[in-house]
Amino acid sequence: MKICVIGTGYVGPVAGTCFAETGNDVICVDVDARKIKMLNKGTIPIYEPGLKELVDRNTSKGRLSFTTDLNKAVKQSLINFIAVGTPPGDDGSSDLHYVLDVARSIGKAMEGYKVIVDKSTVPVGTADMVREVIGEETEHSFDVVSNPEFLKEGAAIDDFMRPDRVVIGVDNSRVEALMKDLYSPFMRTGHPIIVMDVRSAEMTKYASNALLATKISFMNEIASLCEEIGADVSMVRQGVGSDLRIGHQFLFPGCGYGGSCFPKDVKALIHTARERGIRLEILEAVESVNERQKELLVKKVKTYFGEDLKGKRFGLWGLSFKPRTDDMREAPAIAIVNSLLEAGGTVQAYDPQAMEEAHRIFDNRITLMKDEYEAAQKADALLIVTEWNEFREPNFEVVRNSMKNPVIFDGRNIYDPQKMAAHGFRYFSIGRPVKETDYTSDPS
Ligand code: NAD
Repeated sequence: MKICVIGTGYVGPVAGTCFAETGNDVICVDVDARKIKMLNKGTIPIYEPGLKELVDRNTSKGRLSFTTDLNKAVKQSLINFIAVGTPPGDDGSSDLHYVLDVARSIGKAMEGYKVIVDKSTVPVGTADMVREVIGEETEHSFDVVSNPEFLKEGAAIDDFMRPDRVVIGVDNSRVEALMKDLYSPFMRTGHPIIVMDVRSAEMTKYASNALLATKISFMNEIASLCEEIGADVSMVRQGVGSDLRIGHQFLFPGCGYGGSCFPKDVKALIHTARERGIRLEILEAVESVNERQKELLVKKVKTYFGEDLKGKRFGLWGLSFKPRTDDMREAPAIAIVNSLLEAGGTVQAYDPQAMEEAHRIFDNRITLMKDEYEAAQKADALLIVTEWNEFREPNFEVVRNSMKNPVIFDGRNIYDPQKMAAHGFRYFSIGRPVKETDYTSDPS
């Protein structure tokens, strides 16, 4: 099939490349000429494991190309995916202007029947708006489909190639058959293509992300209580998650969720409900618990060192909102760094992939170090913010000896408190009681 994917941020290139991988002719479009130039040279503007190999293979086979020319791309394609950003507006609503601009451009470019697929996460009713905007620009017939994306950054290729499910919102059987054909190579594992009406498909994406965010905030609240009453949330998590009705996923307490999806999608759903006079009280709490959680690590730092952090140097391990991505959108690291700086501290940080992004966000307000060991050097305390695998088993002796104070605040619970005590660290984590006997050194 001839496919056009508009928007080459995180979702667009992954979707486009995976469609090419199954034999389709795919052209990806972006207004950002820099990105398109990079992609045409085989350089991937984002860090996503496995993507470069797939892009190289499919471009060399002539099935995948990149352009800034939306007009040409739409003309030559039957199915046109809209995969542009839908960032939050000031009031929490989803900003649809990128989606609607693209819809208008598609309408203008059309010279015959087209399928337009909303892959961006968009509020219920957006497909109707897309239909209206396109209809204003063309006399040709077209179908609008909702096909929300569920991939996870860091595991995006695998998620796309072997999805748990594909959700398709359609209003007629002709386009339903077309979409099923397109996705059938990805469903050989037996997972379902779930076909529904367009509005339900749009809602499914928000409900999924909101529920995942709820699990995280719920567990973060339980972790706070565990800490107060002397229970260990790591054990509680295992006990709870082993119930098959609950499952182990998304029950890890930490220093808050971030990323380009959960925060904005929770806000957008709250906003959608509010517009209709409905309060989503659970989700309002999910959001405020998360905001509080992002401050928790610094609160622990201040309990230890005092409110004034002047003259204190903090090492930070991890800046991206989660491991295996360079994405720092709404990353807890941003709130943590800002709070440390506001209280007078200095920050030296390392992340395996997000250094460029961190430089763009913080400029020279923090020092970016060449590796995790450098980031710990002469630090009054080390903060673990993102649970990259390479932070799990460092040479603790090197870390301890290079620090000014051997103190660790672990926002992701990646270490065993007893082992950390044995390594000579004062160690604070989330939802696990701190035993005074764990300490081997005093703050100075
Ligand atoms: P992004 O912000 O990283 O990228 C969007 C791209 O669209 C940018 O490169 C931008 O230049 C381009 N663009 C904007 N206007 C354009 C236009 N008129 N023509 C062509 N290109 C244009 O976004 P993303 O993270 O890839 O997310 C895209 C959508 O998918 C969002 O709605 C998001 O909520 C949803 N989503 C994202 C993820 C994720 O993990 N990132 C997962 C599932 C769903």
